[in-house]
Amino acid sequence: MSKRPVNLLAAPAAAAARRTLLSAAAIAALVGGVSLSLALTAPPAQAQDKVLNLYSARHYQTDDQLYGEFTKQTGIRINRIEAGDEALLERLRNEGANSPADVLLLVDAARLWKAENEGLFQPIQSKVLEERIPAHLRSKDEGKGSNWFGFSQRARIIVYNKANVDPASVQNYEDLAKPELKGKVCTRSGAHPYMLSLIGAMTEHLGEEKAEKWAEGVVANFARKPRGGDTDQVRAVAAGECGVALSNSYYVVRLMRSDKPEDRDVVSKVGIVWPNQSGVGTHVNVSGAGVARHAPNRDAAIKFLEYLASDSAQAYFANGNNEWPTVSSVKTDNPQLAELGEFKADTLPIGAIGAAQVTAAKIIDRVGWR
Ligand code: FE
Repeated sequence: MSKRPVNLLAAPAAAAARRTLLSAAAIAALVGGVSLSLALTAPPAQAQDKVLNLYSARHYQTDDQLYGEFTKQTGIRINRIEAGDEALLERLRNEGANSPADVLLLVDAARLWKAENEGLFQPIQSKVLEERIPAHLRSKDEGKGSNWFGFSQRARIIVYNKANVDPASVQNYEDLAKPELKGKVCTRSGAHPYMLSLIGAMTEHLGEEKAEKWAEGVVANFARKPRGGDTDQVRAVAAGECGVALSNSYYVVRLMRSDKPEDRDVVSKVGIVWPNQSGVGTHVNVSGAGVARHAPNRDAAIKFLEYLASDSAQAYFANGNNEWPTVSSVKTDNPQLAELGEFKADTLPIGAIGAAQVTAAKIIDRVGWR
């Protein structure tokens, strides 16, 4: 993602995307006719192949179009089960080998790793996915393929109050522990996956001991006890209750795109910093998906993951939540996201960040980041 060009999807590309959609619809109509005549003699297993059970922790309006296009292209209907990440994992655990889940779509490396560690995915070997999704944005391949693949990425950025914080003093995550920021730092609970992943990344870079010292320093600088989500931190920075906070990039873009005057007001009062630009780069995380361990429709599941890596799906998927595609050649048409500018992203493997949450969780307990 480093040095991403700011100018995004131009009109001709959009027209091309529409043409693809039209021809896909035409093909689907033909295929529909064929499968109808085949269905008279085909065994029931064939009929099952035309459905995909998607367990998704993501729900945006644009997803309807995203999944609709997959059905048009392949004839495979998507049966979506949407719930929070934790609820989905719980459901999968309870269903065990009888689970109808084919694809599991989760948010953040901490949760993807958790699902992987519990054996809820199966490794997949796919040339398409290996070529399109960078190795550091999918789970470690131990010779059998990857358990999950990142399909959109977000950055964890520093947000500061323009009136009372000098951005030069908060250029790095490490700076949040400096004594000069005493009483100014706000974050959500350290136990949240977004924080566990960031603290995990710090642990990977600094080692456990230094990462803990850093976490201790951040906690000592708290303006208030952690509460609320990322947007609440950004609002508190604008209100002056906090001088500086951490937020995922898409929450800021969401405020930038909002029509509400109070959101515009928040945006006008805060500035953003891409942390660690002169070092390892800004922490990025992903939304990702993998094939469920007991997927009844494994082939359809692989097809769906490969579809999510296609140009048009990547643009939709990323735009649905104001994120960046993981396929580097794909551009999104999102002026507010482009307005944030370019940055150097940390290339630490997302899988390693997910695994580091075990150490991160111990650190937050010891330093009281709750
Ligand atoms: Fe989020």
